[in-house]
Amino acid sequence: MTVTINDFNVKEKMQWCPGCGNFGLIASLKGAMADLGLKQHETVVVSGIGCSSKLPHYVNTYGFESIHGRGLPVASAIKLANTDLNVVAVGGDGDGYGIGVQHFIHIMRRNYDLTYIVHNNQIYGLTTGQASPTSQLGMKTKTTPWGVVEEPFRPLTVAINGGATFVARGFVGDPGHLKELMKTAIAHKGFSFIDVFQPCVTFNKLNTYPWFQERVYKLEDSGHDSTSKSAALSKAMEGEKTDYKKVPIGVFYKTDKPTYESTLPQIKDTPLAKQKLEIDLSKAYEEME
Ligand code: SF4
Ligand code: MG
Repeated sequence: MTVTINDFNVKEKMQWCPGCGNFGLIASLKGAMADLGLKQHETVVVSGIGCSSKLPHYVNTYGFESIHGRGLPVASAIKLANTDLNVVAVGGDGDGYGIGVQHFIHIMRRNYDLTYIVHNNQIYGLTTGQASPTSQLGMKTKTTPWGVVEEPFRPLTVAINGGATFVARGFVGDPGHLKELMKTAIAHKGFSFIDVFQPCVTFNKLNTYPWFQERVYKLEDSGHDSTSKSAALSKAMEGEKTDYKKVPIGVFYKTDKPTYESTLPQIKDTPLAKQKLEIDLSKAYEEME
Protein backbone atom coordinates (compact mmCIF):
# COMPACT_ATOMS: atom_id res chain seq x y z
CA MET A 1 0.00 0.00 0.00
CA THR A 2 1.34 3.45 -0.91
CA VAL A 3 2.15 5.71 2.02
CA THR A 4 1.26 9.39 1.70
CA ILE A 5 2.18 12.41 3.77
CA ASN A 6 -1.35 12.41 5.26
CA ASP A 7 -0.65 9.01 6.82
CA PHE A 8 1.87 10.74 9.10
CA ASN A 9 -0.57 13.40 10.31
CA VAL A 10 -2.14 13.24 13.77
CA LYS A 11 -5.24 14.97 15.12
CA GLU A 12 -3.39 16.61 18.01
CA LYS A 13 -2.91 20.40 17.63
CA MET A 14 0.73 21.39 17.32
CA GLN A 15 1.63 23.58 20.31
CA TRP A 16 4.17 25.87 18.65
CA CYS A 17 4.05 29.66 18.21
CA PRO A 18 2.57 30.84 14.89
CA GLY A 19 5.40 31.11 12.34
CA CYS A 20 7.80 28.85 14.29
CA GLY A 21 10.33 27.05 12.12
CA ASN A 22 9.27 23.76 13.66
CA PHE A 23 6.24 23.68 11.35
CA GLY A 24 8.46 23.66 8.26
CA LEU A 25 10.74 21.05 9.76
CA ILE A 26 7.96 18.61 10.58
CA ALA A 27 6.40 19.07 7.12
CA SER A 28 9.75 18.20 5.51
CA LEU A 29 10.15 15.18 7.76
CA LYS A 30 6.70 13.81 7.00
CA GLY A 31 7.29 14.40 3.29
CA ALA A 32 10.62 12.57 3.44
CA MET A 33 9.07 9.61 5.25
CA ALA A 34 6.24 9.42 2.73
CA ASP A 35 8.57 9.67 -0.27
CA LEU A 36 10.73 6.88 1.16
CA GLY A 37 7.63 4.77 1.77
CA LEU A 38 8.43 4.26 5.45
CA LYS A 39 5.75 2.27 7.23
CA GLN A 40 4.43 3.88 10.40
CA HIS A 41 4.69 0.67 12.45
CA GLU A 42 8.35 0.25 11.46
CA THR A 43 9.36 3.82 12.31
CA VAL A 44 10.17 5.45 15.65
CA VAL A 45 10.71 9.15 16.30
CA VAL A 46 12.53 9.94 19.55
CA SER A 47 13.22 13.27 21.24
CA GLY A 48 14.65 14.93 24.32
CA ILE A 49 12.96 17.97 25.90
CA GLY A 50 12.21 21.38 24.43
CA CYS A 51 9.96 22.99 21.83
CA SER A 52 11.55 20.76 19.19
CA SER A 53 11.07 17.66 21.28
CA LYS A 54 7.28 17.87 21.12
CA LEU A 55 7.65 16.61 17.56
CA PRO A 56 7.12 12.85 18.18
CA HIS A 57 3.60 13.70 19.44
CA TYR A 58 2.75 15.17 16.05
CA VAL A 59 3.94 12.36 13.76
CA ASN A 60 1.89 9.23 13.27
CA THR A 61 4.65 6.70 13.97
CA TYR A 62 5.88 5.14 17.18
CA GLY A 63 7.37 7.84 19.36
CA PHE A 64 9.23 8.48 22.59
CA GLU A 65 9.73 11.86 24.28
CA SER A 66 12.56 11.18 26.69
CA ILE A 67 14.29 13.57 29.10
CA HIS A 68 16.48 16.56 28.49
CA GLY A 69 19.39 15.75 26.19
CA ARG A 70 18.72 11.99 26.25
CA GLY A 71 16.98 11.44 22.90
CA LEU A 72 20.05 9.84 21.33
CA PRO A 73 20.73 7.14 23.96
CA VAL A 74 17.07 6.13 23.82
CA ALA A 75 17.18 6.08 20.00
CA SER A 76 20.34 3.96 19.96
CA ALA A 77 18.83 1.50 22.46
CA ILE A 78 15.72 1.17 20.28
CA LYS A 79 17.91 0.51 17.25
CA LEU A 80 19.91 -2.13 19.11
CA ALA A 81 16.71 -3.82 20.32
CA ASN A 82 15.23 -3.98 16.84
CA THR A 83 17.56 -3.24 13.94
CA ASP A 84 14.65 -3.56 11.49
CA LEU A 85 13.19 -0.24 12.68
CA ASN A 86 13.76 3.15 11.07
CA VAL A 87 14.90 5.35 13.94
CA VAL A 88 14.91 9.15 13.80
CA ALA A 89 16.01 11.23 16.80
CA VAL A 90 15.18 14.92 17.05
CA GLY A 91 16.13 17.59 19.55
CA GLY A 92 17.13 21.19 19.95
CA ASP A 93 20.42 23.04 20.21
CA GLY A 94 20.12 23.43 23.98
CA ASP A 95 18.95 19.85 24.38
CA GLY A 96 21.45 18.19 22.03
CA TYR A 97 24.49 20.49 22.09
CA GLY A 98 24.21 21.49 25.76
CA ILE A 99 23.10 18.88 28.27
CA GLY A 100 23.13 16.04 25.73
CA VAL A 101 26.42 16.77 23.99
CA GLN A 102 28.26 13.76 25.45
CA HIS A 103 25.71 11.43 23.83
CA PHE A 104 26.10 13.22 20.50
CA ILE A 105 29.86 12.64 20.58
CA HIS A 106 29.87 9.02 21.69
CA ILE A 107 26.91 7.81 19.65
CA MET A 108 28.15 9.26 16.37
CA ARG A 109 31.62 7.73 16.76
CA ARG A 110 29.92 4.30 17.01
CA ASN A 111 28.04 4.84 13.75
CA TYR A 112 24.63 3.45 14.70
CA ASP A 113 22.31 3.35 11.71
CA LEU A 114 20.01 6.16 12.78
CA THR A 115 19.25 9.75 11.84
CA TYR A 116 19.65 12.70 14.18
CA ILE A 117 17.95 15.99 13.29
CA VAL A 118 18.66 19.06 15.43
CA HIS A 119 16.29 22.04 15.37
CA ASN A 120 18.97 24.68 15.76
CA ASN A 121 17.34 28.03 16.59
CA GLN A 122 20.38 29.34 18.49
CA ILE A 123 18.34 30.02 21.64
CA TYR A 124 16.51 28.20 24.43
CA GLY A 125 12.90 28.56 23.23
CA LEU A 126 10.79 26.57 25.70
CA THR A 127 12.39 28.30 28.70
CA THR A 128 11.74 31.68 27.04
CA GLY A 129 14.90 32.99 25.49
CA GLN A 130 18.22 32.22 27.17
CA ALA A 131 21.54 31.95 25.26
CA SER A 132 22.17 28.42 23.97
CA PRO A 133 25.43 26.71 22.94
CA THR A 134 24.96 27.94 19.35
CA SER A 135 23.98 31.55 20.10
CA GLN A 136 26.20 33.90 18.15
CA LEU A 137 28.97 35.93 19.77
CA GLY A 138 27.55 39.26 20.90
CA MET A 139 23.91 38.13 20.81
CA LYS A 140 21.82 39.75 23.55
CA THR A 141 19.45 37.40 25.38
CA LYS A 142 17.84 37.23 28.82
CA THR A 143 20.95 35.57 30.25
CA THR A 144 23.42 37.65 28.23
CA PRO A 145 22.13 41.25 28.45
CA TRP A 146 25.56 42.57 27.38
CA GLY A 147 25.95 39.98 24.61
CA VAL A 148 27.26 36.40 24.41
CA VAL A 149 30.99 36.28 25.16
CA GLU A 150 31.55 32.54 24.54
CA GLU A 151 32.61 30.98 21.25
CA PRO A 152 29.60 29.10 19.81
CA PHE A 153 29.51 25.30 19.69
CA ARG A 154 30.22 24.13 16.13
CA PRO A 155 28.03 21.07 15.52
CA LEU A 156 29.17 20.39 11.97
CA THR A 157 32.90 20.44 12.67
CA VAL A 158 32.35 18.24 15.75
CA ALA A 159 30.29 15.77 13.69
CA ILE A 160 32.73 15.68 10.75
CA ASN A 161 35.65 15.03 13.11
CA GLY A 162 33.65 12.86 15.50
CA GLY A 163 32.80 9.96 13.22
CA ALA A 164 29.38 10.83 11.79
CA THR A 165 29.19 9.24 8.33
CA PHE A 166 26.65 11.72 6.94
CA VAL A 167 26.75 15.40 7.93
CA ALA A 168 24.38 18.00 6.50
CA ARG A 169 22.76 21.33 7.26
CA GLY A 170 19.32 22.49 6.17
CA PHE A 171 17.09 25.53 6.50
CA VAL A 172 13.35 25.36 7.14
CA GLY A 173 12.86 28.31 4.77
CA ASP A 174 13.69 25.90 1.93
CA PRO A 175 11.47 22.93 2.85
CA GLY A 176 11.88 21.12 -0.49
CA HIS A 177 15.67 21.12 -0.10
CA LEU A 178 15.36 20.08 3.55
CA LYS A 179 13.07 17.19 2.61
CA GLU A 180 15.63 15.90 0.10
CA LEU A 181 18.37 16.14 2.74
CA MET A 182 16.21 14.16 5.15
CA LYS A 183 15.51 11.49 2.55
CA THR A 184 19.22 11.04 1.86
CA ALA A 185 19.99 11.02 5.58
CA ILE A 186 17.35 8.42 6.46
CA ALA A 187 18.40 6.22 3.52
CA HIS A 188 22.07 6.48 4.57
CA LYS A 189 23.43 3.36 6.29
CA GLY A 190 25.08 4.74 9.41
CA PHE A 191 24.84 7.77 11.70
CA SER A 192 23.35 10.60 9.68
CA PHE A 193 23.16 14.06 11.18
CA ILE A 194 21.34 17.18 9.98
CA ASP A 195 21.69 20.50 11.76
CA VAL A 196 18.64 22.55 10.74
CA PHE A 197 18.36 26.33 10.92
CA GLN A 198 14.91 26.69 12.49
CA PRO A 199 14.07 30.31 13.35
CA CYS A 200 12.50 30.84 16.78
CA VAL A 201 10.28 33.75 15.83
CA THR A 202 9.41 34.57 19.43
CA PHE A 203 12.79 34.75 21.16
CA ASN A 204 15.54 34.99 18.54
CA LYS A 205 15.27 38.40 16.89
CA LEU A 206 18.72 38.12 15.26
CA ASN A 207 18.64 34.86 13.27
CA THR A 208 15.31 35.42 11.53
CA TYR A 209 13.94 34.05 8.24
CA PRO A 210 15.17 37.13 6.29
CA TRP A 211 18.57 36.90 8.02
CA PHE A 212 19.01 33.35 6.70
CA GLN A 213 17.43 34.06 3.32
CA GLU A 214 20.06 36.72 2.66
CA ARG A 215 22.92 34.40 3.58
CA VAL A 216 22.27 30.75 2.80
CA TYR A 217 23.36 29.09 -0.42
CA LYS A 218 23.38 25.45 -1.50
CA LEU A 219 26.61 23.48 -1.45
CA GLU A 220 25.54 21.46 -4.46
CA ASP A 221 25.60 24.68 -6.52
CA SER A 222 29.21 25.36 -5.48
CA GLY A 223 30.97 22.20 -6.69
CA HIS A 224 31.64 21.06 -3.11
CA ASP A 225 33.22 17.59 -2.80
CA SER A 226 31.33 15.89 0.04
CA THR A 227 33.81 12.98 0.11
CA SER A 228 36.60 15.30 1.26
CA LYS A 229 36.86 15.79 5.01
CA SER A 230 39.08 18.86 4.70
CA ALA A 231 36.70 20.50 2.21
CA ALA A 232 33.79 19.69 4.53
CA LEU A 233 35.54 21.28 7.52
CA SER A 234 36.37 24.38 5.55
CA LYS A 235 32.75 24.78 4.40
CA ALA A 236 31.50 24.13 7.94
CA MET A 237 33.44 27.21 9.12
CA GLU A 238 32.49 29.44 6.21
CA GLY A 239 29.73 31.27 8.09
CA GLU A 240 32.02 32.34 10.90
CA LYS A 241 34.93 33.02 8.58
CA THR A 242 32.87 35.38 6.39
CA ASP A 243 31.21 37.12 9.34
CA TYR A 244 28.02 35.30 8.27
CA LYS A 245 27.92 36.81 4.80
CA LYS A 246 27.84 33.30 3.27
CA VAL A 247 26.28 30.35 5.08
CA PRO A 248 26.19 27.04 3.18
CA ILE A 249 23.47 24.39 3.48
CA GLY A 250 23.46 20.90 1.96
CA VAL A 251 25.55 17.75 2.39
CA PHE A 252 28.95 18.63 3.83
CA TYR A 253 30.38 15.16 4.31
CA LYS A 254 29.47 11.58 3.47
CA THR A 255 31.41 8.38 3.86
CA ASP A 256 30.75 4.68 4.30
CA LYS A 257 31.83 2.43 7.12
CA PRO A 258 30.27 -0.54 8.94
CA THR A 259 27.48 0.29 11.35
CA TYR A 260 27.82 -0.54 15.03
CA GLU A 261 24.97 -3.04 14.84
CA SER A 262 26.48 -4.90 11.89
CA THR A 263 29.65 -5.58 13.88
CA LEU A 264 27.87 -7.17 16.85
CA PRO A 265 27.74 -10.96 16.34
CA GLN A 266 24.70 -11.26 18.65
CA ILE A 267 22.43 -9.18 16.40
CA LYS A 268 24.03 -8.83 13.01
CA ASP A 269 21.82 -11.53 11.43
CA THR A 270 18.62 -11.41 13.52
CA PRO A 271 17.33 -8.38 15.45
CA LEU A 272 17.26 -8.94 19.20
CA ALA A 273 13.50 -8.38 19.30
CA LYS A 274 13.00 -11.29 16.87
CA GLN A 275 15.27 -13.80 18.60
CA LYS A 276 13.88 -16.64 20.71
CA LEU A 277 14.46 -16.18 24.41
CA GLU A 278 16.44 -19.32 25.22
CA ILE A 279 18.27 -18.59 28.42
CA ASP A 280 18.97 -21.43 30.83
CA LEU A 281 19.35 -19.94 34.29
CA SER A 282 19.43 -23.27 36.15
CA LYS A 283 23.24 -23.25 36.47
CA ALA A 284 23.20 -19.72 37.86
CA TYR A 285 20.51 -20.70 40.36
CA GLU A 286 22.55 -23.76 41.43
CA GLU A 287 25.58 -21.58 42.06
CA MET A 288 23.51 -19.28 44.25
CA GLU A 289 22.13 -22.08 46.40
FE1 SF4 B 1 9.05 27.92 18.13
FE2 SF4 B 1 10.46 29.65 19.58
FE3 SF4 B 1 7.82 29.43 19.92
FE4 SF4 B 1 9.46 27.47 20.71
S1 SF4 B 1 9.39 29.56 21.54
S2 SF4 B 1 7.51 27.21 19.61
S3 SF4 B 1 11.03 27.52 19.10
S4 SF4 B 1 8.87 30.14 18.07
MG1 MG C 1 16.90 25.94 20.80
